[in-house]
Amino acid sequence: TGIYRSLVHLPEDGQIPTAHNLDTAKYVISQFPHPDISESKIALIDSSTGQQLTYAQLRRSITSLAAGLRSAIGVRKGDVVLLLSPNSILYPTICLAIMSVGAILTPANPVNTTSEIAKQANDSGAKFVVAAPEQLQKLESIGIPVLTTTRALDYVSCEELIDCCGGGDGSTEPQVSISQSDTAAILYSSGTTGANKGVILTHSNFIAVMTMMKWSVRAMSAEDDTFLCFLPMFHIYGLAFFALGLFTLGIKTVLIPKFDFNLMLQSIETHRVNNIPAVPPVILAMVKFATASGFDLSSLRRVGTGAAPLSGELGVEFRRRFPWVELRPGYGLTESCGATTMFASDEVAKRRPEGCGGLLPRFCAKIVDAETGDALPPYGRGELWVKSPAVMKGYLKNEEATSATIDSDGWLRTGDLCYFDGDGVLFVVDRIKELIKHNGYQVAPAELEAILLTHPQVMDAAVIPVKDAASGEIPMAYVVRASGSVLTEDQVITFVADQVAPYKKVRRVAFIGAIPKSAAGKILRKELILHNQQRLTAK
Ligand code: AMP
Repeated sequence: TGIYRSLVHLPEDGQIPTAHNLDTAKYVISQFPHPDISESKIALIDSSTGQQLTYAQLRRSITSLAAGLRSAIGVRKGDVVLLLSPNSILYPTICLAIMSVGAILTPANPVNTTSEIAKQANDSGAKFVVAAPEQLQKLESIGIPVLTTTRALDYVSCEELIDCCGGGDGSTEPQVSISQSDTAAILYSSGTTGANKGVILTHSNFIAVMTMMKWSVRAMSAEDDTFLCFLPMFHIYGLAFFALGLFTLGIKTVLIPKFDFNLMLQSIETHRVNNIPAVPPVILAMVKFATASGFDLSSLRRVGTGAAPLSGELGVEFRRRFPWVELRPGYGLTESCGATTMFASDEVAKRRPEGCGGLLPRFCAKIVDAETGDALPPYGRGELWVKSPAVMKGYLKNEEATSATIDSDGWLRTGDLCYFDGDGVLFVVDRIKELIKHNGYQVAPAELEAILLTHPQVMDAAVIPVKDAASGEIPMAYVVRASGSVLTEDQVITFVADQVAPYKKVRRVAFIGAIPKSAAGKILRKELILHNQQRLTAK
């Protein structure tokens, strides 16, 4: 039939709970380790401060913060709360407390500029902002009530609310009725085309992901594993894994507030870390520098990679240098609430260094031929479409993009050119969609093009990805100068850099007479990519 199904047989407890009145926080907490051990079992350690949180403390802080958000701040069901903070020991508590009062979490990248944050706040309809104190100056002009994560002068903080609201005995638990179909979070993704859009993820999406994760994490870890978290929790990869999912497995997580290679190595040694969900640039850094670093990395058992392609050679090299570590590539996207495929067995992964693993339980997929629309058999290349209870509800206030992305049968178009081999392993060949991925972060060409077009000396512009060994891809701008303009590359780079988060910077510029476009006016990016490759070989 051309439909690929997950080959995983779920255990008894792998069924997705169907209770109508279940929210993400209630589900997560219900899966915490037994009360007999949750007082001593550590959920989180901040490796920069040494601060720790047991499962019992985590449960109490979620309940107290939820009570505080409702009674002291007035957060109500359906209110959108923007969270602007680097990873911290409080981050999961804040996410779960917001969700447990029926409010909607919209996490933002803390390196975003004031205007990027304002845009997200405005688009998502945020009613409150929770910000790390060092972010406050960006919020001065935003006009939305702000509370801070940790204590700060003149602001109410989550820390104080946790300390003062409720004893965590359940009596102060907010009495709101939340159903699985309610929105739990709005994350931002550019999807297959255009600017960033709000991805609506419901409680049932997260609950489905977490039940699938139970299976997948079990398949790649031991009960007493220690995980290391440096992936940002504002991105679906970090959010689904570290702010929510791992707690349903009673796992201990060591977190570092933001990626720092030396601190990562140090933390592995100090905390005897076994398991690291990572991204390709980190795999590259480990291959290049980790073995010579002098740190004891013998505790490592598994390293995952996803969010961007990992080259086969790099995978092979990683295995050569770390023969005691299993490398587990996976593939996923914000629109499917995180992971879609993963390797369950190292034996299968080893033989397919370019592969991304098999479909997670409850996922099915098609490989669709662009010309004929046919679903292709193994090894046929086409666009990957997936279907699962984890697939988003749609894009916020954007019917057009939603119906262009999810068809009437519920298939989500990923915008990725892929194939499955005969054993159901997914291979990502190329990206059909416009997206650029820098260090695993999304950069939407359309957003940079819109900025470039505001420059008085720019007639037209197009942004394309250029391959880069360290970061995966970098954004490059093709610019058509207005007549008489002497605009330089540096001026273009600075103009954009002043307005966007550092990871979105245009890092290369070329001037051109006209941007190639289709009859319908669509930028022919592939032509520009080819043009650039030819330009480089001619040099
Ligand atoms: P995001 O929503 O930020 O997670 O971005 C999702 C996109 O990242 C996917 O649609 C792919 O284009 C890309 N991506 C994620 N994982 C992989 C992978 N393992 N290999 C290649 N591309 C990937």
